[in-house]
Amino acid sequence: METTKRTCLKCNRLFDSAGPFNRICRRCQQVNDRLPRFSEEQMQKQRGAKWHNGELMEP
Ligand SMILES: [Zn+2]
Repeated sequence: METTKRTCLKCNRLFDSAGPFNRICRRCQQVNDRLPRFSEEQMQKQRGAKWHNGELMEP
């Protein structure tokens, strides 16, 4: 298996790249995969708690 040392675009650390398409290290890719899902889910939960049938529920 051929790998090239590349600099990660996110953390600027050297990592073993599998090809030209691989510009971000595995660690940063995992963070990328998780972050958007988490924040979106949390935002939806927060909205769902505050809004009911289109009306804002005051605490
Ligand atoms: Zn990285």
